[in-house]
Amino acid sequence: MRGAIAKAVAAAAALGVLAAGTLAAADYQERLGAKRRERAAAEAMQESISADAYGLQELQGGGRAAYRNEVKERAAEKAAAEAAEAEARAAAERAEAEARAAAEAAAEAEARAAAEAEARAAEAAAICALPAGTVVDDSRIDFDSLPQYFPVSAINEGDAVYGRIIGKSYVDNPDIALSSLRYIKTLHRNFAGQTQVGEIIVNEAIAADVADIFLVLYESGYQINSMFLIDDFWTGDGLTSDVNSIAHDNTSGFCYRRASAGDNLSNHAFGLSIDLNPLENPFVYVTEEGSYAAYPESEAYVADRELAHCITHSDLAYQVFAAHGFTWGGDWPSHKDYQHFDKI
Ligand SMILES: [Zn+2]
Repeated sequence: MRGAIAKAVAAAAALGVLAAGTLAAADYQERLGAKRRERAAAEAMQESISADAYGLQELQGGGRAAYRNEVKERAAEKAAAEAAEAEARAAAERAEAEARAAAEAAAEAEARAAAEAEARAAEAAAICALPAGTVVDDSRIDFDSLPQYFPVSAINEGDAVYGRIIGKSYVDNPDIALSSLRYIKTLHRNFAGQTQVGEIIVNEAIAADVADIFLVLYESGYQINSMFLIDDFWTGDGLTSDVNSIAHDNTSGFCYRRASAGDNLSNHAFGLSIDLNPLENPFVYVTEEGSYAAYPESEAYVADRELAHCITHSDLAYQVFAAHGFTWGGDWPSHKDYQHFDKI
């Protein structure tokens, strides 16, 4: 083939122009092919560039969508955060308002309680100021705060109690100082079951015991006929005044006097003894001929110690006094003094 072409070329060369024409055509064809290839390459390049541009566009489009989504998400997050903040603010305001209302209610309740406590204290003080023997309606008594009705006070020269006892149950003496005595206001149930104001003087050493004993007896409904100072029955001396107080079934404590039997000072002279409901609980002489009461009106209570208001070992008074360390005259080995408790 090449040989044929060479021959043809040689023939053409011989023909001159024709040969040149033929070369030019071949060259043209070759250049045309190269152009085509260039164009194809350019087109391919262009396509590739377009594809890249498209990809970029896609990419950019995707980016915008993501951006838009992100913006939307951020907006939603911001709105949610604001809503949560608003809710928290509202909750805090509600809590604050509730706390304020609770504090106001508590302050009001406290003020009301304080006013009530003040009124109760004033009422209790008014009851404590009543003279012994006054009957008080139970509705006036605050049974949750009974100790306030059993106040213990010192006795001072010149005060009202001193004025009642000086020259009677109390005289200047070498045995007991006025400063060792205490005046106790009490409440007790009288024999009608009513609340009645009482009073008693005892030694400072047993004053707290005595206040507590009478509180327990009152709280338990234990009946005591009357509780006045022995000076209210004064007849001129300690012993006869004691008899007079007994005749009135009066419960008493201190009296600077001799003992009923013998020349020694009684423990009452030191304020260390208490005689309780003495008519029902008499002093009893025990002799070979038998037992008899120191005062005839009590004879029935010698024969039968189970009568009402008799103190026995099963009686509450005995038990409460014993629990506070007192001994009982009913346990004395010889004479019996059923009304008598002392703590030495
Ligand atoms: Zn006594």
